[in-house]
Amino acid sequence: MSAKVWLVGAGPGDPELLTLKAVRALREADVVLIDDLVNPALLEHCPTARLITVGKRGGCRSTPQAFIHRLMLRYARQGKCVVRLKGGDPCIFGRGGEEATWLRQQGVEVELVNGITAGLAGATNCDIPLTLRGVSRGVTLVTAHTQDDSSLNWRALAEGGTTLVIYMGVAKLGEIRQQLLEGGMSDDMPVAMIENASLPHQRECRSSLSRMQEDAHEFALKSPAILVIGRVAQATQAVEALASATA
Ligand code: SAH
Repeated sequence: MSAKVWLVGAGPGDPELLTLKAVRALREADVVLIDDLVNPALLEHCPTARLITVGKRGGCRSTPQAFIHRLMLRYARQGKCVVRLKGGDPCIFGRGGEEATWLRQQGVEVELVNGITAGLAGATNCDIPLTLRGVSRGVTLVTAHTQDDSSLNWRALAEGGTTLVIYMGVAKLGEIRQQLLEGGMSDDMPVAMIENASLPHQRECRSSLSRMQEDAHEFALKSPAILVIGRVAQATQAVEALASATA
């Protein structure tokens, strides 16, 4: 049997946002390697598979990436159907690209399955259209957290005029605000901070660029959360008015 690994997006948490293809992969799986942002309720689709948790939440001891690679390879070479189940989409800040490349170099067949990424789900659940005719002509997904501390070109993001969806930003609100203000973004730019998007305990905090750090503190915003920064993050009625005025 040829070695194959499925790199599958589990979506943001709501079990109904799992794709049919992900469900099929889970049904066929002998082994499932699970990331920690995956809702355990999804595992009802693979009742007989061997489950291995390989989470890497901040604060906990993380499973080294090389170890995860070796685990996938070992089971695949045994002819097992391996599913690597990741929160959201496997290729949006999820190392899906790295893992697929490495596995293919080892001669393992890889199939990637989309999941709904947290940023899209969070916005939609809060009635925020990430693009909107006359208001926002695009959307940019960025992470505030990098392993090598390299910096984003915040000025370009501020000037670009697209809606910004920021992942892993909860601990960096002060820095994000400062960089975007320095880049020329208006201090009253609407911001929505969405915690546990798509889950029953989802919470949302509406604010503005100038106030987002204080508001998040008062709200006790916790990870996992995404930030949506842009005119579309204004209250829905105001956005509709804006859109119809410029249509
Ligand atoms: N591959 C994932 C992202 C993993 S990076 C995806 O496509 O969604 C982890 C970050 O994703 C978190 O720090 C947070 O910013 C965001 N995130 C993941 N799940 C979330 C959720 N349910 N609600 C809000 N943010 C979430």
